[in-house]
Amino acid sequence: MQDPNCLFCKIINGEIPSTKVFDDELVYAFNDINPAAPVHVLIVPKKHIADNNQIGPGEAEIAARMLTVVPELAEQLEIAEDGYRLIMNTGPHGHQEVKHLHLHLIGGAPMRHPMG
Ligand code: 5GP
Ligand code: ZN
Repeated sequence: MQDPNCLFCKIINGEIPSTKVFDDELVYAFNDINPAAPVHVLIVPKKHIADNNQIGPGEAEIAARMLTVVPELAEQLEIAEDGYRLIMNTGPHGHQEVKHLHLHLIGGAPMRHPMG
């Protein structure tokens, strides 16, 4: 279920400290250490899944939970009304640095349009 060498598995286990924002049986959410905006939370599955390419039918419940917690978190973080951006980077072209699936929830200030 977990990879002992994975940074986010260590965060989920509590081996590496993090600021918890949300926790349930399937997902863990915590503040990004290098926030890109006033609100920058990472939503990760507790099961080690390397990236979006590893999501199949067996991960449907986890993948759904990663999205369905977003409205709850947005409300909690007071960004629901003004809005936010969700980003999931995959592989080198996508600039994925940590090889444990994660959804960036970014908000708290207006952002530039991602397509320029
Ligand atoms: P990626 O580029 O893989 O989509 O994003 C990885 C994110 O993880 C980055 O935004 C980075 O700031 C964050 N990050 C990397 N190491 C740590 C850490 O040790 N703790 C926390 N809270 N965030 C981290
Ligand atoms: Zn992991």
